[in-house]
Amino acid sequence: MSTEVIHSLIPLPQSFRKDEGRFNCKPTLTIAFETCSDAVSHAGKLLEEWLKVRQPELTCEVLNGSSDIRFLEENSDNEEAYTLTITPDQITIRGSQTGWVRAAAALVMLYDQGGWNACHIEDAPRFSWRGMHLDVCRHFYPVRLVKRLIDVMALHRMNTFHWHLTDDQGWRIDIKAFPPLSNISAWRDKDGETYGGYYTAEDIREVLAYAQERKIQVVPEIEMPGHALATLSAFPELSCAGGPFQVSNTCGIFDDVYCAGKEATFDFLEKVLEEVCELFPGPYIHVGGDECPKTRWKTCPDCQSRMKQEGLKDENELQSWFVSRMGRFLDSKGKHMIGWDEILEGGLPPTAIVMSWRGVAGGVEAARMGHDVIMSPTTHCYFDYRQSTEPEEPGNLGIIPINTVYDYDPVPEELDAKAASRVLGVQANIWTERMPSWKLLEYMVLPRLCALSEVAWTSPKQKNWKHFEDRLNRHLGFLKAYGYTYRHPLRENREFPL
Ligand SMILES: [Zn+2]
Repeated sequence: MSTEVIHSLIPLPQSFRKDEGRFNCKPTLTIAFETCSDAVSHAGKLLEEWLKVRQPELTCEVLNGSSDIRFLEENSDNEEAYTLTITPDQITIRGSQTGWVRAAAALVMLYDQGGWNACHIEDAPRFSWRGMHLDVCRHFYPVRLVKRLIDVMALHRMNTFHWHLTDDQGWRIDIKAFPPLSNISAWRDKDGETYGGYYTAEDIREVLAYAQERKIQVVPEIEMPGHALATLSAFPELSCAGGPFQVSNTCGIFDDVYCAGKEATFDFLEKVLEEVCELFPGPYIHVGGDECPKTRWKTCPDCQSRMKQEGLKDENELQSWFVSRMGRFLDSKGKHMIGWDEILEGGLPPTAIVMSWRGVAGGVEAARMGHDVIMSPTTHCYFDYRQSTEPEEPGNLGIIPINTVYDYDPVPEELDAKAASRVLGVQANIWTERMPSWKLLEYMVLPRLCALSEVAWTSPKQKNWKHFEDRLNRHLGFLKAYGYTYRHPLRENREFPL
């Protein structure tokens, strides 16, 4: 299909037909619903908000009746499926409420010079998990900025925001049961200045409501048993050897982790997770599980006696026991546990979902064992890695150019059909050690997120780098219109937003 017709639409839909003519916008658009209620008018309000960025003088009237843009409820096996028909007289969107939001995102991208070229789109995503992760521990970003990321995800029809809320460098979620997490663990000494912050329950509800309008699920991550220095600074008694500890101002992996022998650790984590489960309505809770050194556990009498008592042969099995115990707790709350692929070491809790980041081997192994998996390997999905070899380019040492992201197929060839069906989807991660400014973060995310959205949404047989590159060229204007900072993949002499 010609890129001119499909303009700057990313990701590419499953089917697209060009029709004759064009719908030209008047200053006022009416948007109608088959049934007009508060719930269904959300899609219309969102569409108005998105369209106004492109055409500020536009106003939308939401009513139940004849109109320029019609939303019709239509059920389908996939709640994200939609059809979009643009004729010179009317625009019709069919789908569930989630499908409407996906269609609205496609519609604002197809908008070109005051209107739309007539066309018909039938569309549904390839994967049910199309994720973007954000580390707010190494640097803290306020709600206003978190929303910017969620909005650009929704415009690209992505559906999962993974919020990395706790780490060695800061604890970012207020927990009523433990005020020291907000008073102590959320702050670090950075060159003599106090640096950090945290989200209140009200902040989190604001983000959840914003994401819900955009039909994006939010997955909180509460890291354990490693990456716990911020917690231990406030609660040294939860470590093996006792403190004092300080919230870290440097990157790395630290030996002091939660003690797996003391019951106090589990009392603490269960109380924390109880509040987290209550606050976040979604079905998934991420518990980390990565990069946990076993140094302290090896010499801790409590950890050693736990191993004896539970018949565990080494510290890897102790980690597995730890994670499984938390998994059972989350099960009892009706939640699914997700962990990084280290949770495979020493045996995997039966209901765990694995996020494969150290390459795809962990994901392959877990899928063959019958676990659901999400692919986010450092080879293709780490947006804190550099995008080019240019000397000014910030980021971690590895290089992941946008075409490498685009070429990724989240289903490894070696999986048979049954195991392949366990791959829920794909996710990009952004760790923010080297991203002190939000502008820089956006620069690292965009436009690689655009490429990832097509990996996650579009079927592989339709993907074509050249075609994508043509659309991307126009799509950069779209990102610019929405005020995003991005790396221009074609232009030399870039400006780095440092
Ligand atoms: Zn211990």
